[in-house]
Amino acid sequence: MPELTGFAVIGCSKCRRIMSADLSHATKTCQCGHKLDLKKTKLIAVFASADDAAQAVMQMQERKNTGFTSAANYSRTLDK
Ligand SMILES: [Zn+2]
Repeated sequence: MPELTGFAVIGCSKCRRIMSADLSHATKTCQCGHKLDLKKTKLIAVFASADDAAQAVMQMQERKNTGFTSAANYSRTLDK
């Protein structure tokens, strides 16, 4: 299996935040503190450059806000 290189778009399995991750690293720590093993995490998309990955993350976050529960709504539910 060829080694993956580039920048992946991944979703945190804990807080569902979408973020980009450098595939040259083994893990990515989410802003919520959850550590994601990049070999076990589903890669939503892979890009050659960090800029492309960041742009895809922004687009997905916009789409998420129109269809699914946004991260803000999600934490508000937990605060209750
Ligand atoms: Zn998270």
